[in-house]
Amino acid sequence: MRPAADIHHLLKPFEGRPVAVSVAAADPVNLPMIRHWCEAMGDANPAYTGDDAIAPPTMLQAWTMTGLGFPDSPAPATRTPAARTPATRTPTHDQLFALLDGAGYSAVVATDCEQEYLRPLRPGDELIFDTVIETVSPRKDTKLGTGYFITTAMQVRAAGELVGTHRFRILKYAPTKHARPEGTPAAVPTPSTRPRPVINRDNAPFWEGVAAHKLLIQRCTACGTLRFPWLPGCGRCGSPEWGTVEACGSGTVHSYVVVHHPPFPAFDPPYAVVLVELTEGVRIISSITGVPHDGVRIGMSVELEFIRVDAEWELPVFRARSDGSGEESG
Ligand code: ZN
Repeated sequence: MRPAADIHHLLKPFEGRPVAVSVAAADPVNLPMIRHWCEAMGDANPAYTGDDAIAPPTMLQAWTMTGLGFPDSPAPATRTPAARTPATRTPTHDQLFALLDGAGYSAVVATDCEQEYLRPLRPGDELIFDTVIETVSPRKDTKLGTGYFITTAMQVRAAGELVGTHRFRILKYAPTKHARPEGTPAAVPTPSTRPRPVINRDNAPFWEGVAAHKLLIQRCTACGTLRFPWLPGCGRCGSPEWGTVEACGSGTVHSYVVVHHPPFPAFDPPYAVVLVELTEGVRIISSITGVPHDGVRIGMSVELEFIRVDAEWELPVFRARSDGSGEESG
């Protein structure tokens, strides 16, 4: 297979071009969306409820997302005059993607985002946003394949005031081929390609626990709240002081996804990624063993185990219990 040609000279002129100009968010900031978000995130912060509620800052992107079905719905007539500023979605994004797709850079993966919050958003705020293609990187070789990092920058305003920015980066790439013939069994992940955890001063004790076959949950020593994943401070009371509780290892599948795409060298789709609710009450994203990807069910009982990935480290994963507990019943 011929490698895709370097088309950076065709992509570079897209830098600075607008993608969306003065587009109104589909809905004003509102309590029902805030409530659903907090439930999904398990965020019980009292700042997000009640008469003087603010929106969780990280919802910034949620307010400005295009719907799946009717991206060009007009803003409701009840909107304020500011929200009826003539809005434009430009073909810039489609043109850029068509160029990349046409040259063989057909796969896409989101890599990271950065957000900046300039003031809290409150129910009733009508948001308007502008989006530009900020940068297109030179061609890069990555473990996924060769491609370009594209950074899109959004500015969000309410009543003419800048309230936040959202910078979103994707990799658009030509996938490295490692397809297997139909019907052949999935390969065991190659140890050398398994992504490494990012270990820093905030989570190093967690990984020391894993090395000792302990799954450690952080516990705020000020208010007693358990937290996972590990963070520098308590989401409930703000205290930076913490201790640990060792998980007993039992849990249930709270939710899961089956990944079919994109292919990644360390994993062989389709495979299940599970969100396990531990007996202690916190949740952890992990892999599941002892059950095929299409046999995973919400409510399934699981038990902690450690798998060795290579000579240097192990990972906590969860094995489906064979006693059938958690199966749906009347
Ligand atoms: Zn606390």
